[in-house]
Amino acid sequence: MIDPFAQREIWFLTGSQDLYGPETLDQVAAQSQQVAGLLDEAGQVPVRIVWKPVLKDTAQIRSLALEANADPDCVGVIAWMHTFSPAKMWITGLDALRTPLLHLHTQADAALPWSTIDMDFMNLNQAAHGDREFGYLTARLGTPRKVVVGHASEDLVREQVGAWARAATAWSEIYGMRLVRFGDNMRGVAVTEGDKTEAELRLGVSVNTWGVHDLAAAVDAVPEASIDELIEDYLASYDVVDDLRPGGDRHESLRYGARQEAGMRTFLEQIGAKAFTTNFEDLGPLRQLPGLAVQRLMAAGYGFGAEGDWKTAILVRAAKVMGHGLPGGASLMEDYTYDLTPGNEVILGAHMLEICPTLTTSRPSLQIHPLGIGDREDPVRLVFDTDPGEGLVVALSDMRERFRLVANEVDIVGEREPMPNLPVAHAVWVPKPDLRTSARAWLTTGGAHHTVLTTAVGREVFEDFAEIAGLELVVIDDQTQVASLRQELRWNAAYYRLAQPMN
Ligand code: MN
Repeated sequence: MIDPFAQREIWFLTGSQDLYGPETLDQVAAQSQQVAGLLDEAGQVPVRIVWKPVLKDTAQIRSLALEANADPDCVGVIAWMHTFSPAKMWITGLDALRTPLLHLHTQADAALPWSTIDMDFMNLNQAAHGDREFGYLTARLGTPRKVVVGHASEDLVREQVGAWARAATAWSEIYGMRLVRFGDNMRGVAVTEGDKTEAELRLGVSVNTWGVHDLAAAVDAVPEASIDELIEDYLASYDVVDDLRPGGDRHESLRYGARQEAGMRTFLEQIGAKAFTTNFEDLGPLRQLPGLAVQRLMAAGYGFGAEGDWKTAILVRAAKVMGHGLPGGASLMEDYTYDLTPGNEVILGAHMLEICPTLTTSRPSLQIHPLGIGDREDPVRLVFDTDPGEGLVVALSDMRERFRLVANEVDIVGEREPMPNLPVAHAVWVPKPDLRTSARAWLTTGGAHHTVLTTAVGREVFEDFAEIAGLELVVIDDQTQVASLRQELRWNAAYYRLAQPMN
């Protein structure tokens, strides 16, 4: 996928005032450039940090906020009050700011010069109370923000800024994104429904449906040369079973899979969409349920949801952006079946076909098997087991007046035994704190059965994303107790109901 961070910028804003005189302000400027530089050079921060001249009055601050809002490359602003910056001068600027904010609470140097410290040093290094003045105002205004504390050379600080930079970039990618639904939702299913108008208002995603016959026409129009190219790519990238190889009995099925991939990709590119859904109930003239095609498009960075599940497609796209450049991947996932043996409980996650191969570093196998669902020809698909390691499973539910994210930290453990009769890509995991508590918490919360599984980023990035997007987030982790979670849900219900606009 295209590097989502490459053209993006985060602006580094330094608060001060004219009181200190030009000499001190020059020092403030030089030191804040150093702090911005420390973050910019940090490998943990994937977005360029751009230092901006020190802000000293109301007009400058408001003007810069409006500039940040208007610049599509600026995904976020970091604010630091090096000296004391009376916060009333920030009111109209913060009120206008629509760009994600990180409040960095730091000092130019980590160590205090105990033996030489004088009042000049004290006057210059006032963030300890300057940032508290800023914190009061952001709290009073209710400005969405992340607060990070510590020196910019610290790994923890860099990781926290980096996580937020990933979330802010995902927000920038999601806000304004086009999502193509090929057909409607699976009939009768509740959780894949949702308010598409609210999705555009709150998440900026335009969710619209195209007839599957339009897609089928694009698939039929794919030139043979494009299919040849994809076949070469498949042979180089995967262990292709003999039947599907050139000259094999079922090679034509693989060529049709390639045709679907190329047709879907062209269709999405023409619309300018970065996420899509399909529905096995509405395949029209398509000859196979798209399996390989969807897997490959997810691997290329597209968001995807099955059965018309556009909310999960948004999450998958967000996770693709968040995790770009990191080890691991992200995919549509579904809690499919359990091993409930006491002491050995695991969740076997999979879907009919559509699991993204970025979840494995092994070489997937490209196979063909019958599939009753969809009532079409046997579909081609990539088969693999997800790499063991830490993962995060996240769902998005429409709770009427709000969208709710549910995230569960999990340990992916790999398949317990070979499953030679299960020819679909899958993942096996132990949810935290344990399957019983996790599933009780998940069901109590109303999390969806479709999720994104990411092995590239952890909860912090999603926490930052939820803060930026104004989404409710319920985390299930090793501390979760269902009794207190039930209380949290009640408080959240009251908060989000009260926080509604009145019209
Ligand atoms: Mn499903």
